[in-house]
Amino acid sequence: MKIVLQHLTKSFPSRDKKSADVIAVNDFDFEIPDGKLIGLLGPSGCGKSTTLNLICGLLTPTFGRIFFGEDDVTDLPPENRGVGLVFQNYALYPHLTVRKNILFPLQNLKGAERPSKAEMEERMLQCARLVQIESLLERKPAELSGGQQQRVAIARALVKRPRVLLLDEPLSNLDARLRLQTREEIRRIQRETGVTTVFVTHDQEEAMSISDRIVVMNAGVLQQIDRPQTVYDDPINQFVAQFLGTPPINMFSGRVRDGRLFLGEQSVLVVPGVSDCEVNVGIRPEGFVIDPEGPLGCELLAVEVMGRDTSVVFDHSARLSPSLRAVIPSEERTHAGERSVRFSLKPSKVFLFDKTAGARVRFGGK
Ligand code: ADP
Ligand code: MG
Repeated sequence: MKIVLQHLTKSFPSRDKKSADVIAVNDFDFEIPDGKLIGLLGPSGCGKSTTLNLICGLLTPTFGRIFFGEDDVTDLPPENRGVGLVFQNYALYPHLTVRKNILFPLQNLKGAERPSKAEMEERMLQCARLVQIESLLERKPAELSGGQQQRVAIARALVKRPRVLLLDEPLSNLDARLRLQTREEIRRIQRETGVTTVFVTHDQEEAMSISDRIVVMNAGVLQQIDRPQTVYDDPINQFVAQFLGTPPINMFSGRVRDGRLFLGEQSVLVVPGVSDCEVNVGIRPEGFVIDPEGPLGCELLAVEVMGRDTSVVFDHSARLSPSLRAVIPSEERTHAGERSVRFSLKPSKVFLFDKTAGARVRFGGK
């Protein structure tokens, strides 16, 4: 079931009379394709939960419409939309067993919608198997780990066979290892069921690893929608470039003169097609190549060997980010004890941005 958002907007009145309304979601106009897993990604407070709550019907839009397939669901109450919801806190009924927690949404159905007892049992077991908790059915939530509780919550969301599955930061309460494992589980469950899924997270790595497409948003405004790798390789603006990637992209202040990019006095790259201007320059950590003849000379601060890769920490007078870090294959590492390091740059890993609005300034036809 595809989800279509048409000019979807939600503003909240400000808490005091003096300041303006908060526009939590500003004119969202895009389509979530059928059967895909979409990661809704952005910093805390950017409007992710508001978007999700609009889709499920817990909030009413200020403006705009929401369609599931061809159905306009904007005015439908949540219980009639066919959505399954999973939140950060598992919100299981503590006094009910796992079995009863999963059965609960089915037992609440009325009239013709209510399956027979045997069918309910069958569906409960099917979902329990899907999330691999069929051996825990007689336990209470307090007797489960966080990861197991979240699996029960997912089973409970799926038991009504929703048209759309909505997950709001579902992994945030889990420890690092469980978070990794559970996100792979969610990916598998989504593939097996084929249910259109919106997965909200502020964690870029989580969104990148799990999503078919990511929607990057900032302050209620959509920034970019695309495949994770495309967004990483071809960010639309400085915000997106800086939000994605670990270690983060390295930012410099630069200037373009006669088709050449300068960092300080050093001419570091040819940037065809850019007229003379001041720019912010983003260089991915993997965009630096150690090269004794390279055009970019930097002060070497530290070399950290981390297995397959080596991190080179350095400084430069044109630095904008708090620190600068190159990641290079370990066999190429520089000799310790040196004070400086020279790099050449991979043009595909270098991005230029307008100094004021942060819009991408493209060069060389890319
Ligand atoms: P996120 O989930 O990305 O962290 P939210 O969608 O929860 O962000 O919030 C987006 C913005 O809307 C924030 O500025 C938040 O303070 C504001 N907001 C959310 N819910 C309400 C509400 N019920 N009343 C007023 N402001 C709200
Ligand atoms: Mg939220």
